[in-house]
Amino acid sequence: MSDRFISPEANGEESELERNLRPNTLAEFTGQESIKESLQIAIEAAKHRGEPLDHCLFAGPPGLGKTTLSSIIAKEMGVQLHVTSGPILEKASDLAGLLTSLQPNDILFIDEIHRMSRVIEEYLYPAMEDFRLDIMLDSGPAARTVNLPLRPFTLVGATTRSGMLSGPMRDRFGLQYRLELYDDTDIQKILMRSATILNVKITEQAAASLSSRCRGTPRVANRVLRRCRDVAQVRGNGVIDNAVAEKTLQMLGIDEDGLDPMDRKILAMIIDNFDGGPVGLNTLGAALGEEPDTLEEVYEPYLIRKGFMSRSPRGRIATSNSYRKLGKTVPKSFIARNALQGELEL
Ligand code: ADP
Repeated sequence: MSDRFISPEANGEESELERNLRPNTLAEFTGQESIKESLQIAIEAAKHRGEPLDHCLFAGPPGLGKTTLSSIIAKEMGVQLHVTSGPILEKASDLAGLLTSLQPNDILFIDEIHRMSRVIEEYLYPAMEDFRLDIMLDSGPAARTVNLPLRPFTLVGATTRSGMLSGPMRDRFGLQYRLELYDDTDIQKILMRSATILNVKITEQAAASLSSRCRGTPRVANRVLRRCRDVAQVRGNGVIDNAVAEKTLQMLGIDEDGLDPMDRKILAMIIDNFDGGPVGLNTLGAALGEEPDTLEEVYEPYLIRKGFMSRSPRGRIATSNSYRKLGKTVPKSFIARNALQGELEL
């Protein structure tokens, strides 16, 4: 998987840097204004009542701040954050161990909650609703259920695939938020803030030109910034100016629209091998040697937002923009077919 930008690196130093760049308060968290306002109110109200915050679900592409928001919630609530992830929770005893170790009003953060097994999910329902674990002892005629009371807690779930979450699970979250890709102004602010923390100077112009090429994603922005810092130190005078920014983007293969080599490969595949689409996600993934999930979660949101790809019930379609982007003429058959499709949809 081309994870240069998206997934946290295994490299400990990079993870350490990512932690240092994490905003600690809602005030430090840039963008997503309506989510922040709603959270601020919910947190203040819960603190006032001395109750845990309602269970809270964050959905959206990777790198947009779901983990960051969960740690901010814990800090603002003045409680401990316990972190786990859906695929790690295999047995009911894993969950029981975690839930019984929570102190009152603590936060349990479950990343990739859509990948949790249905069995664990069933155990979570009474825990979320009544702060109680129903544990089955024995099986067959001797089966008994033991109720284990839990301290009140808040479950914060994060998912890149809210559509894969079961209805009953989703309904148990009182607070549900969808994080959207950031606009350039917010990414610029994040770049300037991170540069201050990394102790590197960046000109406003360079931050502005980088901001439109970071996929609207803070994690990408921070990673591009670190590469810029390297280039500034080795090839420049330590300051990230326009020349350093351009050189770095060129080295990373990021073009003027913020597309990286994999984005362009996806568009070229749809156009050259599948007549511009529609092509099903699994077929596209197989042709590219890429996980369909990764295509859907990581690449598509940005390609769709920039108008290079569209989704139809029959699959993914390259738009006329993407033909132009790759220097290809839009075939007449493609225009006619899309016009027809448009009419049919009407
Ligand atoms: P997710 O959990 O959605 O994959 P993270 O919360 O791990 O994303 O965020 C990735 C990185 O991006 C964090 O280290 C943090 O530094 C940065 N980040 C995310 N959102 C913001 C924001 N709104 N303001 C500043 N930095 C942010």
